[in-house]
Amino acid sequence: MRIVLVNGGVISGVGKGENSLTASSAGLLLKTLGLRVTAIKLDPYLNVDAGLLSPLEHGECFVLADGGEADLDLGNYERYLGIQLSRDSNMTTGKIYQQVIQSERVGNPKRLGKTIQIVPDVTDAIQEWIERVAKIPVDDSGEEPDVCIGMSSDLESGPFMEALVQLRHKLQRDPNHEFMSIAVSYCPVINGEEKTKPTQNAIRQMRSAGLFPDVIACRCEHPLNAATISKIARSCQLDDDQVIGVRNMETIYQVPILLQEEGLLKLLQKGLGLDKPVLSPTMVEKGQALWDLWKKTVVPERHLTPVNIVLVGKYVVLDDAYLSVRKSLEHSAMRCKRKLNLVSVDAEHLEHEMQQKDPIKYHAAWKAICDAEGIIVPGGFGERGTEGMVEVIKWARERKIPFLGICLGLQVAVMEYARNVLALRGATSEEFSAQAEHRVVVFMPEVSKEQMGGTMRLGARTSHFKPGTEWSKLRAMYGGADVIEERHRHRYEVNPEYIEQFEKGGLAVTSLDDQGVRVESVEIQDHPFFVGVQAHPEFTSKVLNPSPPLLGLVAASAGCLDQMIEAAREWKEGLANGTGEAAHF
Ligand code: GLN
Repeated sequence: MRIVLVNGGVISGVGKGENSLTASSAGLLLKTLGLRVTAIKLDPYLNVDAGLLSPLEHGECFVLADGGEADLDLGNYERYLGIQLSRDSNMTTGKIYQQVIQSERVGNPKRLGKTIQIVPDVTDAIQEWIERVAKIPVDDSGEEPDVCIGMSSDLESGPFMEALVQLRHKLQRDPNHEFMSIAVSYCPVINGEEKTKPTQNAIRQMRSAGLFPDVIACRCEHPLNAATISKIARSCQLDDDQVIGVRNMETIYQVPILLQEEGLLKLLQKGLGLDKPVLSPTMVEKGQALWDLWKKTVVPERHLTPVNIVLVGKYVVLDDAYLSVRKSLEHSAMRCKRKLNLVSVDAEHLEHEMQQKDPIKYHAAWKAICDAEGIIVPGGFGERGTEGMVEVIKWARERKIPFLGICLGLQVAVMEYARNVLALRGATSEEFSAQAEHRVVVFMPEVSKEQMGGTMRLGARTSHFKPGTEWSKLRAMYGGADVIEERHRHRYEVNPEYIEQFEKGGLAVTSLDDQGVRVESVEIQDHPFFVGVQAHPEFTSKVLNPSPPLLGLVAASAGCLDQMIEAAREWKEGLANGTGEAAHF
C-alpha cells in the first residue's frame, strides 16, 4: 500500500482549490508512470455526506456513479485522473461516528462491554476506512490501485490527524508499504519581500501533531527565490529540492507540467519506492501516451479566440456552486481550441420585476445575454430565479442561440415551451406549485416525501435514444450511440402526459430512461443547438475527454459543431477497436 497525503492549512485563502489541485496533479504525475491511482477525501464536518448542504456552503454537491453525494474535490480527482470513485471515497466525521456508534449499538464483539473512545475507536475506524478505500478498483481493469492520494484540508481535525500519524507509523514499519506527506503552503510577497513565516508556522504545527512533511508545495505568485526555498527547507528540516514553488500558471491545467518540471514526480518516485521499474512495458507506454496527450491538450490559451458562454443560475454568487459545469466548459473550450469566456448571470436579475427594482442589475444581466454565443442553465432546487430562466430560454430558442439546459434547466425549458409555444398558460413545475393547472413537470412517484437525505433519483442511469432520432445533435455528440449512461440527481421529471403535445409542437423527446417512460432529453431539430438533459453530464467530464452535451454547446457556440461530431464518431470507433486517443483511457 502506498499513500500520499496532501494537506494544507496555512491560511484559508489557500483554500480547498489549491490542495485539491496539488493532490490531483500528484495523482496525474503518478498515472503518467503507468500506475493505477485512486483518491480519498477526508472532510472533518459532521454531515454524513454533502447531499443536504446548500451549494452556497462548500460549493456544489458532486454526484458519484454509485449515487454518493460528495464533496466537490472528488470531482477534481475524477477529472484529472480519469477514474470512477465511490461514496466511501469521501470520508466525513459524520460517517465515521455513525459507523462506530452503530457498531456499539448492535453489540459488535469488538466493542461490546467496552468504553468507546475517540482514541483508539474513532482513530482506528478512520485508518481501516482509508486502507479499505485505497484498495477499491477505480477503472475498467478492475485491479487494485497502486497508490492512493489522500487529502484533508483541515489541520485542526484532531482525530483525523491522529489517525494519519498512526497510519504513517504503521505503514512505514513494513517495507512493502509507503506513506508520503505533502504540505501545501503559501508564500506571500509583502513590499517586494517573500515571506516564509506562514509556512514555517504551519509546518511547525503539523510537526507538533506528529506529521512530518516530505515535500512542501509552496504556492506563490511568481517563481520563488532560491534563498527563500533554502530558508523554508532549513527551517523545516528538509533539503532544498523537497520545497517546490508552485507559481501562478496561465491555466490550472499547466500546474501538473510545472510540478513535473520542479521535480515533484522524482520526489514521489523516491518517497514511494517507485524508483526501480515495477510496471509492465504496456503500462509504462500507456502512462507516457497519457502524458503526451495532456501536454498536447492544455496549450496556453493566450492566442486563442474567446468563446462567450453565459451561465444563468441561482447560486452564481459562489463560483464553486457550479464547479463541474465550469470545469466541463473549460475542457470543452480546450478541445475546440478556444479560450472560454464564461460570464455568470443571476437568473433573478433577468426577471421583469427587476426592471423596476434594480434597473442597473436588470440591464447588466440582459447585456451579458445579448453578448452570449451560447447559454447554459444548470441544475438547481426551488422556485427562486426560475422565471428569469424562462425568459432567457425563450431568448435562446427564438434567436437560435445555442442552449443547454441541465436538470432544472431542462425542466424550465419544458415550462417555457409549454407556455410560449403550446399556449398552456402558467405551465409550471410541481416543485413550484402543487395546484397549477398545467404541471408539465411532476414529482417522481418512487421518491420519498418524508426523508430528505439521499432519497432522490441518484447516480448513474441509462438513457435510450428513441428510434428516428438519428438527426439528434445530442446523440451525434455521443458518437451516434443508442444508449448512454450519465449521473442523475433529481426529484421531479417531465410530466409524461404532456409528451405528445410537446412532440407535436416541435420539442422532441429524443431519449427516455430504461423503462421507456421517463424523459431524459429534449431537443429542437430546427435550431443550431437546443438541448435539455435530465442528467448531470458535467459530473463525468474529464480534462482529456469533455462531456458530450457541454462540448456540443461550446462547439455550436464556437461554430465547430460538425467537426466535434465527426471527432465523437471517431472516438467511439476508437473505443470499440482500441485505436486512436480513446485507447489511452
Ligand atoms: N429541482 C429539480 C428536481 O429535483 C432539479 C434538480 C437538479 O437540477 N439537480 O428535479
